[in-house]
Amino acid sequence: MLKIDIHTHILPPQLPDFKSKFGYGGFMKLVPCAGSHDLDMVDDSGKFFRRVGANSYDAEKRLKECDSINVNVQVLSTVPVLFSYWAKPADGLQVARYLNDGISETVGRWPKRFVGLGTVPLQDPHLAIREVERCVKELGFRGIQIGSHVGKWNLSAKELFPFYEACEKLGACLFVHPWDMAGQDRMPEYFLPWLVGMPAESSLAICSMIFGGVFEKFPKLRVAFAHGGGAFPFTLGRIQRGFESRPDLCAVDSQISPREFIGRFFVDSLVHDPSALKYLVGLMGPEHVCLGSDYPFPLGEESPGKIIRDCGFDERAEKWLSHDAALNWLAMKKSDFS
Ligand SMILES: [Zn+2]
Repeated sequence: MLKIDIHTHILPPQLPDFKSKFGYGGFMKLVPCAGSHDLDMVDDSGKFFRRVGANSYDAEKRLKECDSINVNVQVLSTVPVLFSYWAKPADGLQVARYLNDGISETVGRWPKRFVGLGTVPLQDPHLAIREVERCVKELGFRGIQIGSHVGKWNLSAKELFPFYEACEKLGACLFVHPWDMAGQDRMPEYFLPWLVGMPAESSLAICSMIFGGVFEKFPKLRVAFAHGGGAFPFTLGRIQRGFESRPDLCAVDSQISPREFIGRFFVDSLVHDPSALKYLVGLMGPEHVCLGSDYPFPLGEESPGKIIRDCGFDERAEKWLSHDAALNWLAMKKSDFS
C-alpha cells in the first residue's frame, strides 16, 4: 500500500554564517562532528541544540531508510528552529530562500519520492506572499510549513489574512508545526517543552484558526496540524463547553461552534499510542488523518505506520491514513508517484 509520510524534516548539509552576513546573532549553525557524519545544531552564541545524523541532510541515505521502513513518499519541510520569524524580514526571506532552494533541489532529483513544503518569512506577510508564490510557481512546492504562532501573533492575527488568502488562491496547503513553545521558561527540565509545550502549542494554533474565523473566511485553504493536533482533539469537549458557556469570550470573531470545524482540517497520525489514534480517527474521520512520523528525529515514530497497523482499521480507513488523506491535503494524485 502506498505510504506517504507528511511529517518529515530535512536540513541542508551546511548553513551559511547568517550572523556575519546580517550583522546580528540568533541563527543556527551546523557544526560537523569529528569522526562521524553527524552534525551539531548550535546557535551562534555556541549553545548546543541537537545532534543530527546524516539522514537529516543526505537524501540518498534517507531514501535507503525509506525503503527499509516501506515509506514510498516523504513530504519534506525544514526544521522549525530555522523559521527565523524573529529576524529582520528581509533577512528572514534570505534564510527561507536558502532553505527552500535546498529542498527544491532534493525534490527535483527524486520527484516520485519527495514532495516539497516551503518556509516563508511570516513576520512580514507581504514578503511571505512573494516567497509562497515563488515556492509554488517556480519550485513546484505543494505548500508551506508554518509555525504555531509568529512572535506575538497567534494564527488568528488579521495581519496573516493576506497570506492565507494568497495560499488559498495558489492552492498551497499549510502544515502547522509547533515551535517556540509558550511557557518554556517554566520548563527547563525533563524535555518538557517538547512533551507538554508542543501539544499545547498545536491546540493554541487550531483554536486560534477556529475562533479567529480563518476556516470560515478561507473555505478552500487546506490545513494540516502536526502531532495529531496536539491537545486539541482530547480537550475538544472543554473547548466546546467554553464556546457555549462564555460566548462573550469565545464567539467574538466567529459564531460557529468549534465542533462544526471537525472535518474542515487535517492532522497527522503522530500520537504514539493505538488507543489515542483510534480516538483521533473516530473524531476526525480517517479521511482527515495523514500518516506523519517526524522523521528523522528521536521523538518520531521509528517505523512509520506501525501504530496505524496496530490499530487494526479496516482496509478503507487504512488507505485514507496511508495515502488518500495526504493526497487530498496536498491536492495530488496517486499517479503522481508511479
Ligand atoms: Zn516535526
